[in-house]
Amino acid sequence: MSDPNEQLPENSGSGSTKAISRRKFFKKASIAGATVAATTAMASTPVDGDAFTDAVQEFFQGHYQKMTKEEVADAIARLERKTKRKYGVDIQINNDPPLEGVLFGYALNISKCKGYRKCVTACMEENNTSRALQIQYIRVLEMDKGSMNIEESNHYYDSETVPQEGKMYLPIQCHHCENPPCVRACPTKATWKEDDGIVVIDYNWCIGCHYCVVACPYWARRFNWEDPDLPPEKINPVTHYLGNRPRERGVMEKCTFCVQRTRKGKLPACLEACPTGARVFGNLLDPNSEIRYILENKTVFRLKEELNTNPKFWYYTD
Ligand code: SF4
Ligand code: SF4
Repeated sequence: MSDPNEQLPENSGSGSTKAISRRKFFKKASIAGATVAATTAMASTPVDGDAFTDAVQEFFQGHYQKMTKEEVADAIARLERKTKRKYGVDIQINNDPPLEGVLFGYALNISKCKGYRKCVTACMEENNTSRALQIQYIRVLEMDKGSMNIEESNHYYDSETVPQEGKMYLPIQCHHCENPPCVRACPTKATWKEDDGIVVIDYNWCIGCHYCVVACPYWARRFNWEDPDLPPEKINPVTHYLGNRPRERGVMEKCTFCVQRTRKGKLPACLEACPTGARVFGNLLDPNSEIRYILENKTVFRLKEELNTNPKFWYYTD
């Protein structure tokens, strides 16, 4: 892989966009200016102990894929301290790498989904998403039965009254494309596909430019327009650097196949919350896995197949 700190690709999602290099940006910025920016970044937190030093070091933090193990450990310790200062909560940020011989995939039985949206709330709770802005990774589409016209679907329906006569429900989240247009579109390489197929974001490297949002055909990416509203008592303290650690205003986020859970052999929170058993998750490389059984024995389809994004998310019916 080329150095994400160095030359960055011409944006492939927005045509004429100029390449952006964080290193070039830093060359142009004075240390004084950077220090002012770091001070601004920490303005919302009380200054105590290492707060100022942490803010400056975080500002100059490298790309996750280029940091040494020691630098990642330092970054994690800084982020844990920052969360403690901001929310008064002790969290653990783990850094589990992809498991050997694992490629994750997800399948959803649309004949079982009744639109209850339990997956949506479970995902928010698991992933420490902003409550006031209601950053939701899953969008459950309500459509006329048999139409499959997702462009004219409704995802603002009242989940207390489902299932509605004549309607069907189709949850959409990040499809963890094998050929992800969001990754190609990112001018700073802040997002990439890991060896287990999970498409991740380094929130500390994201510049919030939105090119990935435009490039994603599945409406999967969410932007923190405001400082996330995360009540301390609601914080899930078990997190991953590339997953559900608390985020900041101005960065992109999305479903990570619950990287903090699935790399430890657990199932995604949305799957566990589903009251109808519509969801199946597992290792596509394991011929004995349930997901492989679904793919080999059911009639499956993927959304927008013609785009060649090659999602690792399938739909099927009984
Ligand atoms: S669904 Fe969207 S955000 Fe997820 S990998 Fe594909 S293009 Fe990227
Ligand atoms: S896999 Fe995890 S992050 Fe993705 S939608 Fe489900 S609960 Fe949310």
